[in-house]
Amino acid sequence: MHEHTLAELSRLLNTGKISSTELTRLYLERAERLNPQLNGYINTTPERALAQAKAADLTILHKNHGPLTGIPIAHKDIFCVDGTRTSCGSKMLDNFIAPYNATVVEKLDAAGMVTLGKTNMDEFAMGSSTETSYYGPTTNPWDTSRVPGGSSGGSASVVAARLAPAATGTDTGGSIRQPAALCGITGLKPTYGLVSRYGMIAFASSLDQGGPMSRTAEDAAMLMNAMVGFDPRDSTSLARPKLDYTAHLSDSLAGVKVGIPKQYFTDDLDTDTANKVQEAIKQFEQAGASLHPVDLPNTHLSIPAYYVIAPAEASSNLSRFDGVRFGYRCQNPVDLLDLYTRSRAEGFGREVKRRIMIGTYVLSAGYFDAYYLKAQKIRRLIRDDFQNALKQVDVIMGPTTPKPAFKLNELIDDPVSMYLSDIFTVSVNLAGLPAISIPAGFSGQLPIGLQIIGDYFSEAKLLNIAHQYQLHTDWHKQTPGGFA
Ligand code: GLN
Repeated sequence: MHEHTLAELSRLLNTGKISSTELTRLYLERAERLNPQLNGYINTTPERALAQAKAADLTILHKNHGPLTGIPIAHKDIFCVDGTRTSCGSKMLDNFIAPYNATVVEKLDAAGMVTLGKTNMDEFAMGSSTETSYYGPTTNPWDTSRVPGGSSGGSASVVAARLAPAATGTDTGGSIRQPAALCGITGLKPTYGLVSRYGMIAFASSLDQGGPMSRTAEDAAMLMNAMVGFDPRDSTSLARPKLDYTAHLSDSLAGVKVGIPKQYFTDDLDTDTANKVQEAIKQFEQAGASLHPVDLPNTHLSIPAYYVIAPAEASSNLSRFDGVRFGYRCQNPVDLLDLYTRSRAEGFGREVKRRIMIGTYVLSAGYFDAYYLKAQKIRRLIRDDFQNALKQVDVIMGPTTPKPAFKLNELIDDPVSMYLSDIFTVSVNLAGLPAISIPAGFSGQLPIGLQIIGDYFSEAKLLNIAHQYQLHTDWHKQTPGGFA
């Protein structure tokens, strides 16, 4: 039963072959038994889940249900879930019980989905390995001595190991796509502004975007139908006509123009990854797509620009954690300054402090023009590169990550190498574009991801292209040994 996709589970629930309560118990049982090897869930919420499942079963009985009613899902612990701890992977919020639901949670609840629990993540979503979490690292189900990627590594790990049929994630510089690639699942980062950020703890507000993490593109399309929508509580939310993201999954790929940037196939790319990604791209040619070289000349500037802009925004967003209003407060402060400094010194981990210091520095009066303003100009150039390329082609394809999953502790003391894990993903956030990562093969036993980037609001096209590939491949169907 845990091998089914959302689309299949939907049919089984609809025809009464299984109840939501049975399904929920099955996943909770798997989580209890198998999560200790992975630490993908920070915690499960069985009571809430079973209450939701019971309600879903009644809805189905009364034939009042939709396609997602009764299907379980896990939420990244960055999304507020009413009455549930929302830690963002940090000691700072270890004691924070969210008093309301994030819009994404509210929408998926309204669609009848059942929340299984909260998934592990890098602290405040800063990282590419899920090793910076206050709750300890998550492991990769394909090889538990390796990282699942990050920051949505918990979500990727539980979906890959079939401890949840799908999960939510957030992507500021790659945090949906990179862990999806390293764990062999499908992850979609929507166009900036399409999915509400309300109730999603802020890291870098101009880059953060929530999205689905699932086994297949079809499942991601079903989730997008429920997640997308204008939200007056998020000032950057976009009002767009409502789309059915499943409507174009079957469209033919004949005539689709695929751009291949030479900047994505350099010597820094692991050879096996390069070969597998090239093979995947060739399959699109066989399906009727045409391949065209495109130029993204400022790709090499995306990591430096991102690591000015993201920390700048983070330093501002994280100033609210002061020991007074939310979260951790130090013991016995001697005065107000001591309360602030010790609460922050004790509540935040190393990577978060590093970002706050970089961000505060680049925003300071003397350095603002040299760093922050310059980075914003580079951001525009990167966006223009994509706009030029996307005038010539429909989508851009390349690897999601420069290499497969690395070992736990391999990069933790080398922040620059860690940052380079996102070399192919951060530029997409800087431009605000949508992109999907799908399983495209294995290097040994480790999954490899193919990234497909499209123009603004081209999610339906990306999902169509990914779905067509998944009809002809079975990489996405593989289950890691030990979790079958
Ligand atoms: N790895 C990147 C960072 O640490 C991206 C994280 C993310 O997308 N949340 O900032």
